[in-house]
Amino acid sequence: MKRILLEVFLVAALIGAGVFGFMNQKQAATSKAKITELTAAVEAAEKSAKEKEESLSAAEEEMHALQEEMAPLEEKTNQLEAVKAALASGSTLTDLENAYKKEKNLSAERQAGLGALRMLTKGAEDPGALEAFRKALQLSELGDRKNTICAAQLGLVAAGEKIKVMSDCLPKSEKAGHGDKEEKDSKDDGHGKAKDDGHGKKDDGKGKKADDHGDKKDEKHAAPHWGYEGEMGPEKWGKEFPTCSAGKSQSPLDIKGPFVKSRVVVSADYKEGPLKMLNNGHTIQVVVSPGSKLRIDGIAHDLLQFHFHRPSEEKIDGKPMAMVVHFVHKNADGKLAVLGVLLKEGNENPGIKTLWANLPKEENVEYAPDGVNFNPGNLLPREFDFYSYEGSLTTPPCTEGVRFFILKTTVNIAKEQVQAFPFKMNARPVQPLNGREILSN
Ligand SMILES: [Zn+2]
Repeated sequence: MKRILLEVFLVAALIGAGVFGFMNQKQAATSKAKITELTAAVEAAEKSAKEKEESLSAAEEEMHALQEEMAPLEEKTNQLEAVKAALASGSTLTDLENAYKKEKNLSAERQAGLGALRMLTKGAEDPGALEAFRKALQLSELGDRKNTICAAQLGLVAAGEKIKVMSDCLPKSEKAGHGDKEEKDSKDDGHGKAKDDGHGKKDDGKGKKADDHGDKKDEKHAAPHWGYEGEMGPEKWGKEFPTCSAGKSQSPLDIKGPFVKSRVVVSADYKEGPLKMLNNGHTIQVVVSPGSKLRIDGIAHDLLQFHFHRPSEEKIDGKPMAMVVHFVHKNADGKLAVLGVLLKEGNENPGIKTLWANLPKEENVEYAPDGVNFNPGNLLPREFDFYSYEGSLTTPPCTEGVRFFILKTTVNIAKEQVQAFPFKMNARPVQPLNGREILSN
């Protein structure tokens, strides 16, 4: 009996142990599955944490970059505020205006400066600022002085004028990221862009140009906004400067008969002054101090500047000369007159010798050599017989209403002197006469 009981007990114990073992094994399997599951969950959590961390650091980086960009802007704003505060009383403006009153014809640079000062002291709505920028633009276009053209155009836009700003004048950042901006601008037509005639076309040209700039960002100088050959040559000027292609009395002309008799009396009264030269990227220009005049039937026209073209832009009976000097004048009513002197290959020209000895080394920076004076009259012939016609500026923006007097007597220039002129070809082709009369005295 004892033995049976013991056996039963043993069997029970064995069963118990078996069950226990089975249970344990099952639990282990469940736990293992759980662990795998949990591990996967942890891994997933880790992965998304890492992703989050990455996007966080990207955002941080972006914020850093923005902060870096903002720092100089803030500096600029502070500087501008300081300038505004300093000029707030308006006495600097008054002083300057009084000082300038003595000079009849202010230079484009001074007009732009006055405009800026007025805008800073009296606000962008000040009509005087607008007027000053307008005058600056007119004068700077006349002399093709890019920096001042930009100053005047940007000034006018700031004053609310709807004018088109030359692509070269736009700030670098706007040029670099132009793609979206260009598109946005033309859609919302938001700032200062008139929606008028042919504007879309003009914008296209501009967009394309900005592209060119984008590609050549590393270049030290921006590409010129127009030139004498290729994509920027005279046939394409009209894209950015409509008068160049649409104008009906453009210069230069091929001068040939029949002529109409002119009774106009023209005489030059040019004075010696300190030499100031400018290479504006299209020609060599001599900036003349006030005091030199061209009288047309007794009406004084102030000489502003003179410059050179190679070969001569005007042709006589279909033939160009080696070069031409254009003396650019303006009278009190703002009417422009150009006196052209044709330079013919021959003996050395002493006046040109002085000028070429002082050629500016840098583009768009006025060069005034110490103690060198020059009298523009040195480049004039003695005889003053002329051909005359109504024309235009021969460079963009090709503004019309310019009276031309081309002297019949030529002046000599040596072949070497022609070759030493820094521009190989800077002459606009002759333009259609369109029924204009050419006068001759
Ligand atoms: Zn010219």
